[in-house]
Amino acid sequence: MAKLLDRAYEKAAAHERLSCDEGAALLTEGDTHVLAALAHARRMHMHPEPVVTYIVERNINYTNACVTYCRFCAFYRAPGDKETYVLSHEQIGRKIEELLEVGGIQILLQGGHHPDLPLAWYEDMLRYIKERYPVNVHGFSAPEIEHIAKLEGLPVGTVIQRLREAGLGTIPGAGGEMLVDRVRRIIAPLKTTTDAWIDVHRAAHKLGMRTTATMMFGHAETLAERIEHMERVRQLQDETKGFTAFILWTFQPENTAMWRYPKLESHQYLRTAAVSRLYLDNVRNLQASWVTQGARVAEISLRCGVNDMGSTMLEENVVSAAGTTYALDGPGIERSIRMCGFEPRRRNVYYEAVLS
Ligand code: SF4
Repeated sequence: MAKLLDRAYEKAAAHERLSCDEGAALLTEGDTHVLAALAHARRMHMHPEPVVTYIVERNINYTNACVTYCRFCAFYRAPGDKETYVLSHEQIGRKIEELLEVGGIQILLQGGHHPDLPLAWYEDMLRYIKERYPVNVHGFSAPEIEHIAKLEGLPVGTVIQRLREAGLGTIPGAGGEMLVDRVRRIIAPLKTTTDAWIDVHRAAHKLGMRTTATMMFGHAETLAERIEHMERVRQLQDETKGFTAFILWTFQPENTAMWRYPKLESHQYLRTAAVSRLYLDNVRNLQASWVTQGARVAEISLRCGVNDMGSTMLEENVVSAAGTTYALDGPGIERSIRMCGFEPRRRNVYYEAVLS
């Protein structure tokens, strides 16, 4: 392992592409300080300006009804449960108005896999939003789109095209969790497969849409499988160049069927963030997860390869359902960024600067 690790260090320092084995060696055996230094150097090479970006956005979870029962999820309610809800257009509109009042430009619109809502319902929701509000809809996820496609008996490309025509702007990487089918069978046996997740993103990229890639880790996966996940993302990015960012966060076990799994320690989060910066040489942006890690760890991550603080949050229902609650508004994010010696800059979904 020592030889492999040395070679991996050398290649990372020379900004050369790492193999899966080299990535796994870094994650398994690498010295945390060395990984952080290498990742920060790579980040500064990719983004020489001393700037950390963020976006003013809010989450809107249009329904919590879901028939997929992921074992890691504390958010969903089974159809028929008295706590299920579906937001009305007016409720969605009021949430967007609150966002606009604080200068927001984007909504993250996601929900459970509702058993009955047809594609037309999603199209109506998007049209209602876009006819009234100047926001980008960063919406749904590969599994939600696959679910709608199955309900309608349509190809995913057709569903994406119709959602796009109705107002969908970009697609978040949610539902990727761990892009390794062995792990997916353990944590979310009814959810999409790795290939199907990749296919939805490929279809979106081919239509000219931009998406993000995510990774939820710290549960049933091995360290080598985290690299396998990154490899799938890197391969698709080589093919399409459609991912704007990689976003990684740690599994929050509370209130889930996987509550016995221990919560991952922060240094494991930081090590994985650093290695992802080194491994994903073709994905420009790496986002901090203050939602699961808190502001202090997110600040440290800005010296471990991370160049973006993600988004402000007026409302968060998924991670908080699993017992983790951190809050940061625009000024809070800017304070964190400045404390770490960087200049904050507001951005849009394409990582272009916008006026504050
Ligand atoms: S993660 Fe999404 S698909 Fe899985 S149970 Fe929760 S809401 Fe449903």
